This record gives sequence, structure tokens and C-alpha cells, in this order.
Amino acid sequence: MLVGALLACLFSTVFSLRLVVLEPLKRLTSMMKKAEEGDFLKRIWVESDDEIGELGRQFNMMLARITDLVAERIDTEREKEQMQRELVLKAQLSEKTDALEVRIRDLILLMDVTRAITSTLELDEVLAKIADMVGGAMGFNEFAVVLYDEENCEYEIATTFGFPEGIDLIGLKFKNDEGIVGIMHQRRETVLIEDTAKEPRYLHFKGARHDDGSLLAIPLIYHDDIVGAFALTRPRKNAFELHEIWLLEAVASQASMAIANASLHRQTVELSLTDPLTGIANRRDLQRHLEMELPRAERFENPLSVIMLDIDHFKHFNDTHGHPLGDEVLKTVAELLVECVRTVDTVARYGGEEFTVILPRIPKDRAAKVANKLRRAVASHDFPGAETQPNGRITLSLGVATYPEDAKTVEELLHAADTALYHAKRSGRNRVIGYTTEMGALDEDIPRPTEPRAAG
Ligand code: GH3
Ligand code: MG
Ligand code: MG
Repeated sequence: MLVGALLACLFSTVFSLRLVVLEPLKRLTSMMKKAEEGDFLKRIWVESDDEIGELGRQFNMMLARITDLVAERIDTEREKEQMQRELVLKAQLSEKTDALEVRIRDLILLMDVTRAITSTLELDEVLAKIADMVGGAMGFNEFAVVLYDEENCEYEIATTFGFPEGIDLIGLKFKNDEGIVGIMHQRRETVLIEDTAKEPRYLHFKGARHDDGSLLAIPLIYHDDIVGAFALTRPRKNAFELHEIWLLEAVASQASMAIANASLHRQTVELSLTDPLTGIANRRDLQRHLEMELPRAERFENPLSVIMLDIDHFKHFNDTHGHPLGDEVLKTVAELLVECVRTVDTVARYGGEEFTVILPRIPKDRAAKVANKLRRAVASHDFPGAETQPNGRITLSLGVATYPEDAKTVEELLHAADTALYHAKRSGRNRVIGYTTEMGALDEDIPRPTEPRAAG
């Protein structure tokens, strides 16, 4: 009985020990394991106020503290990451801002350059302005504008800026398959040589320079036609940056247009001032020259002489040999006249078979000598078909008049020379006659030279 009671007591003790001590201890151990694995959010269920209960509470407090610490650490790391992200973004932004600033500066420059180079139609001025802007304002030293002559398939350096002293490249010509510009011509696109020392096709500007570095050739293309090129050099390798090439290409496209327009303008002006048959000045250009020369003669108190001349019996020549051979005579006469005078003198085709020569700073007596020289030059030339002419040769009649003694205005001067010419015709042709005031009084019936005469 006692044994039974003892057993019951033992059993109940073991049972309560298990319930009160072992179970809570087991839960505590499992929770500790979980915490060790990183799960700090779980808590122990605390039922008792004994030591085990106290241990559980302490453990729960520790877990709570750890959870706070972990949360704090996570926050700090998040902030750190955030800051790092911000730093990267800031760096990217500043890079973009720098690039944007360069772009804006380039665009403003491009606008200025465009405005400058399209402000004139004179080819020489356009070229000077391009050199000024690209070389000066944009700071590209060692810069050349090369013009393309399609007829002769060759490039010619027209303008340069900032090449080292002693290197004169103006007028240098190269065929469209020569050197780096030749490669550019073939590809019709920009060619960049980053190290000319390694490029056997680089001709060192046909030997005009000896050093090496970088070379950039940009074609000037307008409406599919190559009008020229930009050639740039720098005395070091890899010297051209991408944004610079971009900018220069943009300038090149504006320059192509300006050059094409100026060339067209030049052609139009030349056509409107040149006689198409002989290539010498036409009557309009003659008038322009006289209007420039007369005030100058007045200002410097110099004489200004004019010779009017006409081919004798030219109708007869045409009638005998036909118009085409007559044209050949006109061309040769123009050439002979140009050969006989100074470069400051102007030879113009006044109309038909009449020519005018302006002789600045030449007095009447010397002008008469020049006129005789012209007469002799033509009379002694062997023109095909000349033998059938009334005096067996092609001859001229010439009249001479001089400012200020014979006339005060351009019109009066031309009229006086024409009056003298008329007298040369009347007195037998193939001669020179100087104007005198008596002629003017006598010959009111002479046709005025200022009235248009047909140029055949
Ligand atoms: P004169 O000695 O009096 O000057 O006689 P002329 O026959 O030279 O003068 P005229 O005025 O009677 O004839 C001028 C001739 O010049 C007529 C015209 O056929 C010729 N002529 C004018 N312009 C041209 C041209 O462009 N080409 C050719 N072949 N002949 C021209
Ligand atoms: Mg005539
Ligand atoms: Mg004639």
C-alpha cells in the first residue's frame, strides 16, 4: 500500500517535473535554435513565475532587443544603398550636364558660323569667313579649305588658317585620287587618320610639311556634288574628339551651301560681264570700268585715254568666208589686243566688230602710240582668208580720246573716241586718229556709241 502510494507520488512528481520543467525547457531550447537560425520574431510563451518563466522572459527581451538592432541595421543599410544610388545618379547627371553644355556651346557656335558664312555671296569673302570662324572662333588651328574643280578632277587649297610658319599651302593642287583627300573623295565621307605616321597614303601636303599627327578630311557636298573639302591637322596622335568632328561636319554642310551659292553667283556675274565669244569684258563691264576709272583720274589728276576701234570691211569678210570664220577673226583680234596692253588696261568688246580699250594714266600722245601698236599687231597677223579683203589684210581703224582734254564724262569720252574713229574710217581706214574739238562741231551726224549696236 505504501509502495503504491510511493509509486503514485513518484509518478506524479515525474509528471509535474516533466510538465513544469522539461516542457518549458524544451520550448526554450527550440526557440533558441530558431533564434540562432535568424528568426528573431518568434517569442516564448511564458506561463510561470519561477526561474524557467524568468529565463523565458529574459530570453524574450533579448530577442526583442536583437529584433530592434536588426531593424536598425536594415534601415542603415537601406540608407547607405539609397545614398550610393543617389551618388551614381548625381554623377550621371553631372556627366550629362557637361555633355549638354558642350552641345549647347557647339550649337551656338554653329549658329554664329552659319550666320557669318552665309552673309556674303563673294566667294573670296565666304572662304575668308570660313577660315576666320573655324580657325579663329572655333579654335581649329591648321585648317584649310580646299576647292574641287570638277572639270580638271582636282582639288586646290584655297584658304588656310594657323599652319606653322613657313608652310605655304595656298594653290597646292592634288588629283581626286591622291592622298587622304583622294580617299575622302572616293568614299564621299569624312576620313580621320589618327596617326599619319602609320598611313602610307598621307602625302604630307605633297612634301610641304614633314611632321606627323592626326588628319581629318571632311567633304563639302552640296546637292550630291562635291564642291571641296575641309582639311585639318593636329601635331599629335588621336587629337580629334567625336563631338569636334560632329561640329565640323555640321559647319561643313553650311559651308558647302555657301561655297556653292558664291560660285554660282561668281559665274552669273562673270557671264553678265563677259563677252561669250571672245571672253573679254562686254559693254556693261566696260561701262563699269569707266565709271570707276574716271573719278579716280579726276581725284589724282591723271589723264585717262580711250581707244575705240573697228575692223575694216568686216562685212565683206563675213560675206566671203561665212560667219564662223568671221568669229575666229573676232576672237584672234581680241587676243592680240589683250596681248598688246598692260594688265591695268581694259579691253572690251563694245559690240559687233568694235572694241574699246581703256588706258588709265596714259596721255593722248602715248595713247595714240598704243593705238598704232594695236593697229600694227592686227595688220601684221596672218588671218586665214584675209587675202580676199579689199586691202589684202585684216585691218583696224582707231580713234583716240583723252580725259580731261577731250571730255569730262564717260559718255563724252566714248563719244569723242567714236568720233575720231569715224574720221579714221572716212580718211581711208587702217589708221589712228586722235580726237580734236573741231571734229565734234563738224560731225553731229555720227551715230552715238552709247546707243546699243548689235553684237553679232
Ligand atoms: P567698215 O570698214 O566701214 O567698218 O565696214 P564693215 O563691213 O566692217 O562695217 P559694217 O558695219 O558694214 O559691218 C559690220 C559687220 O560685222 C557686219 C556683221 O556681219 C559683222 N559682225 C558683227 N558682229 C559679228 C559677229 O559676232 N560675228 C561675225 N562673224 N560677224 C559679226
Ligand atoms: Mg562697225
Ligand atoms: Mg567695221
